[in-house]
Amino acid sequence: MSEAAPEVPLVDLAAQRRRLEGRIEAAVAAVLTHGRFVLGPEVDRFEEQLAGVGGVAHAVGCSSGTDALLLALLAWGAGTGDAVFVPAFTFAATAEVVALVGATPVFVDVRADTFTLDPASLSGAIEWAPGAGLRPVGIIPVDLFGQPADYGEIDDVAAAAGLWVLADAAQSLGATFAGRPVGSLATATATSFFPSKPLGCYGDGGAVLTGDAELAERLRSLRAHGQGTSRFDHVRIGLNARLDTVQAAVLLAKLEIFDDERVRRQAVADRYGERLAGAVTVPSVRSGTTSAWACYTVLTPHRDRLTGALRRARIASAVYYPKPLHHQPAFRRFPTAPQGLPVSERLAGEVLSLPVHPYLDVPTQHRVVDAVWAAVGSAP
Ligand SMILES: *Cc1c(COP(=O)(O)O)cnc(C)c1O
Repeated sequence: MSEAAPEVPLVDLAAQRRRLEGRIEAAVAAVLTHGRFVLGPEVDRFEEQLAGVGGVAHAVGCSSGTDALLLALLAWGAGTGDAVFVPAFTFAATAEVVALVGATPVFVDVRADTFTLDPASLSGAIEWAPGAGLRPVGIIPVDLFGQPADYGEIDDVAAAAGLWVLADAAQSLGATFAGRPVGSLATATATSFFPSKPLGCYGDGGAVLTGDAELAERLRSLRAHGQGTSRFDHVRIGLNARLDTVQAAVLLAKLEIFDDERVRRQAVADRYGERLAGAVTVPSVRSGTTSAWACYTVLTPHRDRLTGALRRARIASAVYYPKPLHHQPAFRRFPTAPQGLPVSERLAGEVLSLPVHPYLDVPTQHRVVDAVWAAVGSAP
């Protein structure tokens, strides 16, 4: 091993597990005992509580955040000839599912200050699509790094064009926009329980949240082979995309501390915001909005220097994401907004995510701050 493992990880799942002290093990043991491993009682209980977190009537658990997005697209029947507008600066899953159903992802730029979908770029792309033979059907805003996209302006654009809005909230569960929780901000909201997300399980998991009862029923059918009223009644083409009972049990235990963890992440972000400004560009959260702080992502033109210094100080950091999607080999053939994607391209070269999690103590936060200043700042 040439480099020692970081002493300060990006996310500390071991600290969370120590805090929960056997509660997760007990919850999993209960599932092993009752034996209902697929859509068992913990899944129902978790869905009910999750709907409460999102401020909507329905939550449908599924196998991953990617499948949550896919299920929603299948439920709306997006397909060939349809344009779905997605940011270029996001994780591949956001655009991948659009291509998988045979629709066309159209890449839109993001805003430099919030990293979320730029409504002007979005409007330009929607106007452009029909001329290229594409029928605009929907928008997938991404709540990148935990901050909800600008659903006010996006909803106006969507309503004017008659499009659905599918929130990619894989990173933002627990955040709010204009006093409303993530889950209630779009026609449907997809989230992920990948271990390092704000609410993570011990494997893969996801969910779709919606206020639309009919849509929720379709999603439940789609996640179980297009099931109708009974097990061998198939009313539509679906897939196997269910949430495991064991993962639901883990999530129920973690939900008990979810709100407290959000508050603790906010405190870390507040301290970073005060102390890092000036050394790097710190993230800005729109007024009236809160972030779930899945990542604490700064901008610096000296990223290589900063990354090297943090590594030597044994502090983890990560580049989310090094390449905008329209530059990825898998996505190069898809169209981009007519005004181009200059912000996405610049951000990919300057972003760096620092450790942020509920168990990052104050001395360690100062250690991170000091290392950043030493690498790219003058004196704090
Ligand atoms: C993690 C993530 C996904 C995919 O979630 P999985 O559960 O890993 O499938 C989708 N979109 C964004 C923005 C993500 O960060």
